[in-house]
Amino acid sequence: MKNKKRNFVNLNINPCKNCMPLGSSTAFKGIEATMVLLHGSQGCSTYIRRHMATHYNEPIDIASSSLNEKDTVHGGSTNLKKGLKNTLCLYGPKLIGISTTCLAETIGEDLQRIVTEFKEEEPRFQDVVFVPVSTPGYGGSNYEGYYLTLRNILEVLTEDAPPRISVNIIAGNLTSADIRKIKEMVSLFNIDYTILPDISKTLDAPFEADYKKLSPEGTPLQRIKTMSGAKATIEMGMLVPEHISPGKYLEDQFQVPLYRCPLPIGIENTDTFLKLLEEISGNPIPESLKEERGRMLDGMIDSHKYNAEGRAAIYGEPDIVYAAAKLCLENGIKPVLMATGTRASKLEELLAPDLGLANDECLILDDTDLETVQSYIKKLGINILIGTSDGRLITEKENVPLVRIGFPIHDRVGAQRKLLCGYQGSLQFLDELTNTLIEEKHSTYRETLYHELYR
Ligand code: SF4
Repeated sequence: MKNKKRNFVNLNINPCKNCMPLGSSTAFKGIEATMVLLHGSQGCSTYIRRHMATHYNEPIDIASSSLNEKDTVHGGSTNLKKGLKNTLCLYGPKLIGISTTCLAETIGEDLQRIVTEFKEEEPRFQDVVFVPVSTPGYGGSNYEGYYLTLRNILEVLTEDAPPRISVNIIAGNLTSADIRKIKEMVSLFNIDYTILPDISKTLDAPFEADYKKLSPEGTPLQRIKTMSGAKATIEMGMLVPEHISPGKYLEDQFQVPLYRCPLPIGIENTDTFLKLLEEISGNPIPESLKEERGRMLDGMIDSHKYNAEGRAAIYGEPDIVYAAAKLCLENGIKPVLMATGTRASKLEELLAPDLGLANDECLILDDTDLETVQSYIKKLGINILIGTSDGRLITEKENVPLVRIGFPIHDRVGAQRKLLCGYQGSLQFLDELTNTLIEEKHSTYRETLYHELYR
């Protein structure tokens, strides 16, 4: 069952998404020695810095061209050029990502032209790579901003390279711990690889006494240049539109075969990812991963008897909703409401085979908000929420527990260390879901009992 129109009870209240330049900034933060500058008003970079700093618990530097009323009328090229010069002198990045915002796009700024002029006027920065990206907040969500930015980075950097036995991994918008896990799994197949982006250390860095303005970690620029020579690309994301897909660009431009897979969360999704690696590398799935799979199966058996009454509302970015819904279905929890603030019309089609007979009982909403999600809590008998910390308002009002996944998580520490991927991460996630349902049952069964008795 699905409403095809924009799915709001009222206006967009408590949005179920973040804006495009935020996704763009996250993608840039996974590239070696990269700085981000947002072309727009200061508030945009402040909002994004604040969101990322409280989620990743790291200092986040994002520059701004700081447009004001005058620039809005006369154009912002002077401010942008000044901002670029200051940022390049202060930070000395190898790559600078320039993402637009609502204001810059609304006044029709020609980003490409301004950047070209700047490079001509300031030849001393000729070694720096400039990557402009058009990311108006109203043009999509952080989901689109993330993939579009990765694609633009490839469009600017990637060159013809000789073929080699290597695999490109286009990582989904996951946690730093997830990226570390994915790298660990790929390494076990003894195949050379490039992961794009790599936030494993840039957004979860070990403590150091001296503050570094720019992280030397992240995907090396030299690796990105030669992704064209890889044997294949695995792109994590089943709902990424083709026109913003980085893997599709590599396939169209350099004939690198593209394999799409879901985020490796849940047993089937992790199996899919590992089978692709087995096929591309020609090496069998390592024993250590088979052991982790066995442990996950064991954990699923431990959990299943507690999950049958679970009725979940899952919300967030489309691919995380898809993967979490699959994990719930594998483990007896019914995902009765699946919601995303992004337009993702394919979500219903993708989930249909897994939902099977339960299809009529489950509601899928794209382009929706969290007020709408809240309006279904009682109607659908939802007893567990799975999504970002923005759902805590629903918890307060409806008294339904929330398991936090996705971006942002502001009201807990450790979001960057949270592991959901691979068999190990999936099992940790499953344990958290099961324990939340057990806690919910034990803390409410007396009320339910008396309510039933004296009705
Ligand atoms: S929605 Fe627009 S104005 Fe708001 S922070 Fe994002 S880019 Fe800036």
